[in-house]
Amino acid sequence: MNDFKDPEVNDKWIVSCRGEKNSVDPQNPYALLVEKERTSSGTIEDVATIFLTNRECPFHCLMCDLWKNTTDKSVPAGSIPNQIEWALNHLPEVKHLKLYNSGSFFDKNAIPEKDYQKIASLISNFETVIVESHPGFINEDCLRFRDMIESDLQIAIGLETVNTEILMKLNKRMTLEGFARSVNFLLEHDIFTRAFILLRPPFLSESEGIFWAERSLDFALNAGVECCVLIPVRAGNGAMDQLHEKGIFTPPDIHSIEKVLEYGIEQQAGRVFADLWDLKLFSKCDKCIKGRIRRLTEMNLSQKLSEQIRCTCDTL
Ligand code: SF4
Ligand SMILES: [Zn+2]
Repeated sequence: MNDFKDPEVNDKWIVSCRGEKNSVDPQNPYALLVEKERTSSGTIEDVATIFLTNRECPFHCLMCDLWKNTTDKSVPAGSIPNQIEWALNHLPEVKHLKLYNSGSFFDKNAIPEKDYQKIASLISNFETVIVESHPGFINEDCLRFRDMIESDLQIAIGLETVNTEILMKLNKRMTLEGFARSVNFLLEHDIFTRAFILLRPPFLSESEGIFWAERSLDFALNAGVECCVLIPVRAGNGAMDQLHEKGIFTPPDIHSIEKVLEYGIEQQAGRVFADLWDLKLFSKCDKCIKGRIRRLTEMNLSQKLSEQIRCTCDTL
């Protein structure tokens, strides 16, 4: 493991490395997306994601670039329901909805509490609604919101890594006990969780990255998480680019993404997906990249191992 002392990873340094935010409109979501996902019942269905524009998350995690599409101040009451209404008018009809807000849905500075009822009335027809939250915001509010909607509520939480030293360096302000407690609290109230797990955060070699991603999957699935999403770590937020330049961070290789996804699926303990966004970043081989993206997509949807791709880059 790479020993990293200078500069100290703290809020001040992380924020000082940032570039400009993108220009966003508090009356519009900053992106919309529809993608196929395997449901917990085994069907493959379209899931829409509305990327809500709202106030920046109060945490400053080392690897996070979600601040780029946020506002500095809280958005006015009514703007989140307006964004959702606008998005629903522009999305095809689907049964499952992710409301991702670049932070925590239950952070009142991000999503005003007085908007909950209007939001609930807009989304009640969905079978499943998935929101994201840091464990610090998981409490009775989640239950009150769940009771307002007729859909199944799922909450996505960033576990990131179970390597406690790295978790601390990520500045996540979360403990493994806190994560497990949140999952347990939600499960006791019939709310399923999904966990985001990082593949090769900074300070780790490729093999350490694989090892800790697999242990993180073990931990999440044991804690009662129903679905894990493996996120290959990338640069791009300023701080990560500086660590990359110093050799303290290297993005994982696509072979490792395949390996950890295989491991997760083999556990047969819950759905395990690989994040497929911009996978070209993780390969240097033009010969097999398309095949590997196809394989990862197939494994995400089938939750079975697909035939391995053989290529000259396998030995690299
Ligand atoms: S808690 Fe989530 S959204 Fe907030 S800074 Fe950390 S990774 Fe980003
Ligand atoms: Zn290759």
